[in-house]
Amino acid sequence: MTATIIDGKAFAAKVRGEVAAHVARLKEEHGITPGLAVVLVGEDPASQVYVRNKGTQTLEVGMASFEHKLPAETSEADLLALIANLNADPAVHGILVQLPLPKHLDSDLVINAIDPAKDVDGFHISNVGLLGTGQKSMVPCTPLGCLMMLRDHHGSLAGLNAVVVGRSNIVGKPMAQLLLGDSCTVTIAHSRTKDLGAVCRGADILVAAVGRPEMIPGDWVKPGATVIDVGINRIERDGKGKLVGDVDFGSAVKVAGAITPVPGGVGPMTIACLLANTLTACCRANGLPEPAGLTA
Ligand code: NDP
Repeated sequence: MTATIIDGKAFAAKVRGEVAAHVARLKEEHGITPGLAVVLVGEDPASQVYVRNKGTQTLEVGMASFEHKLPAETSEADLLALIANLNADPAVHGILVQLPLPKHLDSDLVINAIDPAKDVDGFHISNVGLLGTGQKSMVPCTPLGCLMMLRDHHGSLAGLNAVVVGRSNIVGKPMAQLLLGDSCTVTIAHSRTKDLGAVCRGADILVAAVGRPEMIPGDWVKPGATVIDVGINRIERDGKGKLVGDVDFGSAVKVAGAITPVPGGVGPMTIACLLANTLTACCRANGLPEPAGLTA
């Protein structure tokens, strides 16, 4: 058996297309242009690439993009003042502060200074609490993208056994909350889990968000299971740089029913969901109906 490959690149393009169609309608019928502000502090090369991609894709779907690039030595007071301005700016519906921040800045303090209604990353403590209690919130982009792909593949997820490997605040924990919200029976595994292989083999849905190249082999995958590989790991192989996931794709693809590749799986969905969240925030701010299928 060879698994169905879940094409995140194509799915993300479809999501962006739906977002663009909604944005066009908002402009035409209401004269509203959704706006996303991205704040980058410092010169981290990976963050610069992410921010550039976000800006380009924001403009491509017809939204306004506001980029704020600040020097690495920016003070906390200056960053908080910028966030206060963006919170008050009616043209800005979504605010994203690119992480990681330089060490002298308190990330929790900065994220929690964002207006929760504009917190399109879904990291504000209010949104974390709303998600945890099953209330309407802004949902973190990567887990939202995984959920969309799972719903698309399975239809209903109710009653399925889901195992999430990784318990970070940005991926593992919100992913588990979303799966619970869709009535999966959820296990969260982490570095202290005993017999991780046996835990994974119980999964109808296996989500890997660890950050360790190819650590989940095919014989940890239940035959026919759906595998969502969140990991992005850069390795050297045969003298060349290569991106791989947390799952050993070569062995897992022979056992799984469906699997996301790396690259081209979860990765492209993250920015697509950021745009979807900005659209959702804009609709909520203007008392308009939220776009169907683009939220949790
Ligand atoms: P973190 O480092 O914050 O969390 C990793 C988690 O994996 C921790 O909970 C840790 O457990 C667990 N873990 C580590 N080693 C093991 C092990 N041997 N067995 C079981 N569990 C283990 O990572 P993130 O959640 O931020 O990211 C995870 C991966 O996803 C990374 O590769 C990252 O690059 C990628 N990523 C991809 C995104 C995308 O857009 N596709 C977006 C965000 C992340 P413990 O808590 O016990 O230490």
